[in-house]
Amino acid sequence: MNIINPATEEIIATVKEDDSFSLEKKLALLKKGQKTWQAVPLEERIKRIDRFAGLLKENIESLASTLTSEMGKPLQQSRNEINGASNRIGWLTGHAGQFLSEELMNRSGDMTEKIVYEPLGVVCNISAWNYPYNVGVNVFVPALLAGNAVLYKPSEYATLTGLGIARYLQEAGIPEEVFQLALGSGEVGKLLLDLPFDGYFFTGSYKTGKYIYEKVAPKMVPCQLELGGKDPVYAADDIEDIKNSAAGISDGAFYNNGQSCCAVERIYVHEKIYEAFIQSFLDEVMSWKIGAPDEAGTYISVLSRKAQLEVLDRQVADAVSKGAKVLAGGKRLDRKGYYYEPTVLIEVDHSMELMKEESFGPVIGIMKVKNDEEATHLMQDTEYGLTASVYSSSWDRAQKILSRLDTGTGYWNCCDRVSAAVPWSGRKHSGIGSTLSHAGLRAFTKPKAYQLRATGSE
Ligand code: NDP
Repeated sequence: MNIINPATEEIIATVKEDDSFSLEKKLALLKKGQKTWQAVPLEERIKRIDRFAGLLKENIESLASTLTSEMGKPLQQSRNEINGASNRIGWLTGHAGQFLSEELMNRSGDMTEKIVYEPLGVVCNISAWNYPYNVGVNVFVPALLAGNAVLYKPSEYATLTGLGIARYLQEAGIPEEVFQLALGSGEVGKLLLDLPFDGYFFTGSYKTGKYIYEKVAPKMVPCQLELGGKDPVYAADDIEDIKNSAAGISDGAFYNNGQSCCAVERIYVHEKIYEAFIQSFLDEVMSWKIGAPDEAGTYISVLSRKAQLEVLDRQVADAVSKGAKVLAGGKRLDRKGYYYEPTVLIEVDHSMELMKEESFGPVIGIMKVKNDEEATHLMQDTEYGLTASVYSSSWDRAQKILSRLDTGTGYWNCCDRVSAAVPWSGRKHSGIGSTLSHAGLRAFTKPKAYQLRATGSE
């Protein structure tokens, strides 16, 4: 399998893909190793994962450069991601003792009732390329902490990063019979669905997620899905600082070139502040440096996948044909690499693909609304349910809107952020189950209830 740099369109590495034979061998190895790993005390598992987080930080420059070369993320954003992943691991290891240890629930008379969190076994982690450290860490770190073995399939667009993760996990003391990679394209991902894993944890698109959910259902094992979104932001008319809010929202829409599951994908602005908001938003977009991902100061760079350029072209053309106006960008850049100009459209509505389908690129539609009621209705008009955000000086007002929306996360005066302390979960086509927080640590366990009656002097 050739690894292509999306900025130069050159082959930067060639990697041998797995096949069903090699995957079966890896699974057999993991099945053996998992039992031993489960017996390693939790404190020791925590120590090793902390060591892994330390290694990520120590090797941040080379890891960031690899990530940038294979998926085109601006170098500083690659560094940010690795730092963020390392901090996220810190939260998970810091709370694993609290949430994975056995819990005494009740003791009365001669009865004791407790819960023991047993690992699932060997879990399959099929992952996405857009934040390979973050979305990987969300799954394989709690899985390993809980005593599972993991077969991790990085996306083909983050293969070298996957190899780096495996190398440093091993260096940190995670044995190779506890963590293995499945290398290859979506076809290799498909092969994994035929094998008897004890759980499937997928991050990726709704289309693939649905396919996996259907395939895994007869196995009767946990199948958790972190999928895409069409996340809305509403800027209400009582925003105190329009310029600052517009800057924050534009970053939420365009950071990582818009290739974030929780990127802002739709913006609704109260008519009273609409003109001022648009001006501030455009000023911000125009101030960004577009350039090669390894050039200092670059904020907007290449998309990771060539095919996405066509999706963006199609969404823009569809919107324009239905009356949208392009205020900035609107096309590919005429240079080598998968560049697309940061694009802002207004006079958009929900008849347009742009406001309904995930864009996953540097393209945003901004729509004027009359009041909170209209904003709420439009925000809820989606098949997705990952996050939603309200910018307003009033929490009461924001809460009224957010509580009516069917999303896993609600943001007030912020957007496009993930915290390890609270569950990360999608609803509807955005997924099933949670990662992060106590829920994400326990997602990789089977709670066993013990009801104990003491009959002797013990
Ligand atoms: P895909 O669904 O295309 O791929 C995800 C993973 O599945 C990749 O490893 C891919 O392999 C693999 N795969 C592809 N086809 C199959 C198949 N038939 N059977 C098994 N595995 C398969 O998603 P992307 O990688 O393009 O990721 C982008 C999507 O992920 C966006 O929709 C984004 O919103 C979502 N996402 C959601 C997150 C969340 O937390 N909710 C976080 C990050 C992203 P390969 O890439 O090698 O083809």
